[in-house]
Amino acid sequence: MKNNKLAKHLVMYTLVIVGLFVLLFALTQMTEDAGGQVTFEEPPTLDDQPTLGNANAEVSIIEFGDYKCPACKAWHEQIFPQIKEAYIDTEQANFAYINTPFHGEESQLAALAAESVWAQDEQDFWIFHDEVFKKQPQQNHDDSWVTPEVLLNMAKEHTPELDIDRLEDDLQKQVHLPQVEEDMRLVQEYNIEFTPSIMINDTLVEDPFDIEAIVSTIEKELEEQD
Ligand code: CA
Repeated sequence: MKNNKLAKHLVMYTLVIVGLFVLLFALTQMTEDAGGQVTFEEPPTLDDQPTLGNANAEVSIIEFGDYKCPACKAWHEQIFPQIKEAYIDTEQANFAYINTPFHGEESQLAALAAESVWAQDEQDFWIFHDEVFKKQPQQNHDDSWVTPEVLLNMAKEHTPELDIDRLEDDLQKQVHLPQVEEDMRLVQEYNIEFTPSIMINDTLVEDPFDIEAIVSTIEKELEEQD
C-alpha cells in the first residue's frame, strides 16, 4: 500500500518535471521564433540628423529618444557610454539621435532647442544633448522641468560659444519645427512605439537595455561589412 502511494507520487513528480521541461522548451522556442528584432529594408537617412563619430562608419546606431522620457535618461547614462567607448570612440560605428517627442509639449520644446543648437554647432549639440538628460530629475520626472528659461540657461552655462539670442528666437518662433516634424515622420515610418528605441543599421533592437543583444547586432553588422 505504502509503496503504491510512493510510486504514484514518483509518477506525478516525474510528470510535473517533464511538463516543466516541455513548457520551458516551448517558451524558449517562442522567444526564438518571435526573434524580437525587426529588420527594415532600408535604415533611416541620417543626412540631416546629428551624428556622432566616424561619418563613414559602416554601422550606424540610431536612438529614437525623448528628452522628457526617464528610460531615455537611464539609457543615456547606463548604456550609451558603453557603446560609445567600444564602437563610437573606436570609429567602428557612428551614433545618431532622432527626436521622438512622445511626452507632450515639454518633449517638443526640448527637441526644438536641440535642433536649434544642432543648426548652430554640431559639437555643441552633443554637449547640450548630454546636459538636457542630466537636467531631467531622477524623481518626479513628470513634473514640469523643461522651459525656455531652463534651456537657455543650460546653453549659456555649458555651450557659451553659442548664439543664445538666436536660440531664444528659434524657440519663440519654433524655427526648427520642420526638423522635428521630419523626425516624427521617421518615427511613424519605422513604427517606433516606445522610447528609447535603438536601431542598428536596418535592425530595430527589441530591448534597448539588452546590452548583449546590442553588441551582438553591432558585431554581426561589422562582420557583414567586412
Ligand atoms: Ca532630428
